[in-house]
Amino acid sequence: MNTRAELIKSLKVYLETDKLIGIKELLLTVRPAAVDKGNTKVRAEEMTLAKLKQKLEECRECPLNKRRTNLVFGSGNPHAALMFVGEAPGADEDLQGLPFVGRAGQLLTKMIEAINMRREGVYIANILKCRPPNNRPPMPEEVAVCSPFLMEQINIIHPKIICALGKFSSQFLLRTDEPISALRGKFREIDGILIMPTYHPAYLLRNPNDKRLVWEDLKKIRDELKEK
Ligand code: URA
Repeated sequence: MNTRAELIKSLKVYLETDKLIGIKELLLTVRPAAVDKGNTKVRAEEMTLAKLKQKLEECRECPLNKRRTNLVFGSGNPHAALMFVGEAPGADEDLQGLPFVGRAGQLLTKMIEAINMRREGVYIANILKCRPPNNRPPMPEEVAVCSPFLMEQINIIHPKIICALGKFSSQFLLRTDEPISALRGKFREIDGILIMPTYHPAYLLRNPNDKRLVWEDLKKIRDELKEK
């Protein structure tokens, strides 16, 4: 895509997000630094994600916000071709405000590096942005209010591939109740994005023998990214 087309596309995403989060007036400010960097698309996505994060900071739609230490919005490259989606922040994530930074997160980092990528090169997010008490699974009403923010993150980043980590994320993204053992290892396309379900790194810490299956799934992701 040429720069002009990219600029128009970025502007469209930016305005759509404004609409979604209730901003009705356009603040016309010229940002020369953004243009001078010659990286307009990435910059627009960063700004759009920042606005979405701000909206989430203010969210009081479910009780989880009262108990959190930090919001765990997501982190990584706003222009990533590969995105990882987990379930919800745990204790370490809540303390640091970053996704996947505990033991499972360290394993996820190794999984990313195993396909010759860096953590900073991908984008990592969760369905819920606040930690559920005692790491219990997300409740349907929490998913109902929080997941539109994830969907908006996906819209802004528009990765080529999403690796869904674990049963909860895979079933949510694929809108199915099939077991993760049946879903994993097979790409399915949703709205032009390839979804690859695989086992959650926390599950792998308990079941290290299944790491070889995840390695198979990761290789499919690596090969698909090479082709695209
Ligand atoms: N498990 C998840 O699903 N997400 C995190 O961020 C950490 C652990």
